[in-house]
Amino acid sequence: MSRTYYWVIDMDYDVVIIGGGPAGLTAAIYASRARLKTLVVESLSVPGQAILTDSIENYPGFPDGINGFELVERFKKQARHFGAELVTGDIKKVERSEKNFKVVLEKKTYSSLSVIIATGARPKKINIPGEERLTGRGVSYCATCDGPLYKDKNVAVLGGGDSAVEEAIFLTRFAKKVSLIHRRDRLRATKILQEQAEANNKIEFILESRPVEIKGKDKVTSVMLENIKTGKKTDLICDGVFIFVGYDPNTAIFKDALDLNDKGYILTGPDMDTSQKGIFACGDCTQKLLRQVITACGDGATAAYSARQYVEELKGLAYK
Ligand SMILES: Cc1cc2nc3c(=O)[nH]c(=O)nc-3n(C[C@H](O)[C@H](O)[C@H](O)COP(=O)(O)OP(=O)(O)OC[C@H]3O[C@@H](n4cnc5c(N)ncnc54)[C@H](O)[C@@H]3O)c2cc1C
Repeated sequence: MSRTYYWVIDMDYDVVIIGGGPAGLTAAIYASRARLKTLVVESLSVPGQAILTDSIENYPGFPDGINGFELVERFKKQARHFGAELVTGDIKKVERSEKNFKVVLEKKTYSSLSVIIATGARPKKINIPGEERLTGRGVSYCATCDGPLYKDKNVAVLGGGDSAVEEAIFLTRFAKKVSLIHRRDRLRATKILQEQAEANNKIEFILESRPVEIKGKDKVTSVMLENIKTGKKTDLICDGVFIFVGYDPNTAIFKDALDLNDKGYILTGPDMDTSQKGIFACGDCTQKLLRQVITACGDGATAAYSARQYVEELKGLAYK
C-alpha cells in the first residue's frame, strides 16, 4: 500500500540540514552565523553515533574527555544561539523542484534553496544465527546504552577496531570479564587504545576467532566461536554480546538521487559538493578516510560555506 504524504509546505529556508550530529550541527553553526535561514532536522528513530559515545578523549579542548551527548548538546546550544532552528523528524526523501528543493518528512515538507546531508552511519550486523532473534536480549550495538545492564556479568565484544576496543574498555566498568574477539592475529585499533586494553586485567583477548552463532533461548547464554586456523568450535559462556564490526551509511533514501560508492557512502568533492548542484554532504555518511567528531565538524563547516556560496549566487548576492 502506498503511503500518503501531507504536503504542508513550511516557509522557505536557505539551507535545510538533515542530521543533528557533529557534522550537521557544525554546518548549522556556520550557516546561521552567515545569516542563512537554517533548519536542522534530526531523526529520533535513528540515533546519531556521537550521542552514544561515553567519553570522547580526542576532541581538542577537552583534555579530560567529554561525554558525547554533552558535547552534542553544546553544539546545539551554539547553533540555536546564532539563530538555527532545530526540529525532530525523519526525512523520507529530497526532491528538486524548479526553484528549490523539497525536503519531505512523513507529514510535512520543507522547501529550501540548498540541502546539507549529515545523516551519519549505523552499526553493521554480522548476520549469524541468533543475532537478530536475541537483539535486545543480550545482543547489543551500544555499550553506553546497555553496558550498565551487565554489572558483574561476562560479556563478549566482537570486533578489533577503535570502537570495539573503546567499548570493551568502557564495559569493564560494569562487567566481571570482557572477552574481545577478533578474527585477525592482532587488533586494528590505534596503539594507545590497545595499550589501555592490554593494561586492563578484566579484558581477555581471543584472537584468530570468528563468531558463528549466538545462543540462548530467551536471552544470550553463549557465543559459538570458530578458530580461523584450526576450524575448532567452542562455546564462550557469556550474558551479553556487543557487536562493533563497522558501519553502514544512512544514505538509502539518496541512492537514486546522488552518486554513492559501492558501500553506499556519498561521494563528495573537496567542497563537500555532491553529484547534484545545491546538495552538499558531510560527516560519517560521506566517503572519507577518517570518521571522527573532529573530521565531521570540519566537513560540516566546509559544507555550510559551500552552501552559502551557492545560495548567494542564486540570490545574485555573490561577492565577485
Ligand atoms: C562506539 C563509538 C565510539 C566513538 N568514539 C569516538 C571518539 O572517541 N572520538 C571521535 O572523534 N569519534 C568517535 N566516534 C565516531 C563519532 O561518533 C562519529 O564520527 C561522529 O558522530 C560523526 O558525526 P556525524 O554528524 O557525521 O554523524 P552522527 O553523529 O551519527 O549523526 C547523524 C545524525 O543524522 C540523523 N539522521 C540519520 N538519518 C536521518 C534521517 N533520515 N532524517 C533525519 N535525521 C537523520 C541522526 O538522528 C543524527 O542526528 C565513535 C563512534 C562510536 C560508534
